[in-house]
This record gives sequence, structure tokens and C-alpha cells, in this order.
Amino acid sequence: MITNTQHRAIITEYDRIQAKNRHLLTLRKEEIYAKIPEYKEISDSISTLCITQGKKMLLGDERALNEMKTQLHALTAKKADLLASYGYPADYLDPIYDCPDCQDTGYLPDNSHCHCMKQRMIYHLYEQSGLMKLLETENFEHLSMEYYDGEDRVKFEKAVQNARKFIEDFGSHYRNLFFCGTVGTGKSFLSCCIAKEVMDRGYSVIYFSANALFQKIAEYTFTTKDKEALAQFKNDLLGCDLLIIDDLGTESVNSFVTAELFHCLNERHLHRRSTIISSNLTIEELRDYYSERLFSRMISNYDFLKFTGNDIRKYKKLNHQSL
Ligand SMILES: [Zn+2]
Repeated sequence: MITNTQHRAIITEYDRIQAKNRHLLTLRKEEIYAKIPEYKEISDSISTLCITQGKKMLLGDERALNEMKTQLHALTAKKADLLASYGYPADYLDPIYDCPDCQDTGYLPDNSHCHCMKQRMIYHLYEQSGLMKLLETENFEHLSMEYYDGEDRVKFEKAVQNARKFIEDFGSHYRNLFFCGTVGTGKSFLSCCIAKEVMDRGYSVIYFSANALFQKIAEYTFTTKDKEALAQFKNDLLGCDLLIIDDLGTESVNSFVTAELFHCLNERHLHRRSTIISSNLTIEELRDYYSERLFSRMISNYDFLKFTGNDIRKYKKLNHQSL
């Protein structure tokens, strides 16, 4: 469960976003009023119009409302034309929102949590700040083929294509991906690229290394007495739009871990929620690591992508040192 402190932190974030956008809108208004004095005049005449017609309505003038509507319509159109003639988009002076769906409140009209609020809660609950840091550099803008040659490059390009298709289809076409390959061949990079794009489209994403995930499950199960927190955690794991498990096969395996993993993946599959798994181990090694039967059942719903090549991280490090 989210604590009061975490909840306050989230509300403060929304306050900050609202203040930032209000400030931005004020700056835009000042800019337009300075550049297009006529725009300001029209805005002022709209205010005057509303007051005079309002008074007439109060005095029982039945035509006042329609008059006002007609004039308001004409003045609004004039404002839009003016903006356009100076090269501004028609909505330049509309309220600005980071998330138009909840207008930066975190709540939808039916009072349920907006997707952006859900993502913030995930972020606070499961210490996803590491992911946020990663996403600053691990995204499609930093995609480069320069580390790959020949066959390796062909494979990586195919994986990138697949990743882009996965993102494009997300929400309408259920799919799971399994990235396999040796250390430093771009698996985590591509997972991050997908995480960022999917999040930007308003979906909730949870990202864990296999090791951290199982530690978290163990911690919730064995050390905290808070049953509600455990239930919430499992709910989020099973319910988030995209779950990414990095580095499968590095966690220490025991029957508890295996059972939890397969339960989670199975539930997600039943509810057609996508999962991306990456591993440095080969399929054969993973089969040995878990049981053949369980592993085969699990991967039957995944599209496999193989990554090969040199260790990019090592390459980058060496390059950096030689500079
Ligand atoms: Zn929102």
C-alpha cells in the first residue's frame, strides 16, 4: 500500500505540474498580447460582452442569450484566425496539461486513478527511480547500429523492428517478447526503449531485474507482516500493462521463486497482459535452470529474439579510456 508520505509526494508532484503549466500559459498570453494587440482587444471585448448581455438576461431580455452566443462565436473565430495568421496553433492559449486525460489531477471524472497516477504509484512503491534514470539515455533517440557488424547487426536490426512493431500494436494486439543473448548485446537497452514508448502512451510499466523482483517477493512474503502490502504488490505485478523482467537466470533459484515466477507469468498470460523477459542464458541453460516442463510451458507464448555480438558496455568503456 502506498504510504501517506508517498501519497503526499505524488500530490505535490501534481501541484508542481499544474503550477508549471499555469506559468507557461501566462507567459504565452503575455507573448501573444505583446505581439498581437488586436488579440487582447478582442479578449477584452469578450469580457465586456458577457457582462452586458448577462445584465440584459437578468432584466428578462429573452434575446440576450442568443445574441451573446452569436457574437461570442464570431469573436472566438476571429481570435483563432488571428493566431493562425501569426503562425500559432489554434490551441496555443488553451489550458496546458501534461496529461490531458486527468488534466493533471491524477483522477478521472469517475474518481478512479488516471493511468499517470497509477504509474506514479508504481514508481513510488517499487523504487523505480533507477528505471527513470535509465530511460534518459536508454531510448530510441540513442539507438545506434555502430556496435554491430555482419550477422550480429542483422539480428539487432530485426530485434529493433520487432520492438517497434510491439510498441505500435501495444494495447490492441497481445504479445510477449523473450530477448536472449550474451551480456551487453542490447537486450536491456531495447527493453528500456519499449518501456519508455509504452509509458509515453499512457500505459503502466513495471521493470525489475529478476534478482530484485524475487528479493521483493521474498521480502513482502517473509519479512513484512503487512498482508495488504503483499496483496497490493502481487496485484500490481499481475495487473500492470507491461511487466519487464531483466536478467532472468541471475537470481538464485529455489522452488518458491520458481513457483512465484510461473504463477505470475501464467496469470498475466491468462489476462492477456504483455511481458518482456530478457536473459543472458541460452534456452538450453534456462531449461536446466528451471525445470524443462515448466520452462517449455512458459515460453510457448513468447516471441524469441536472439541478440549476438560483442559486449557493448565493455566496448564503450574501452573507447572511453582511449579518448
Ligand atoms: Zn493523468
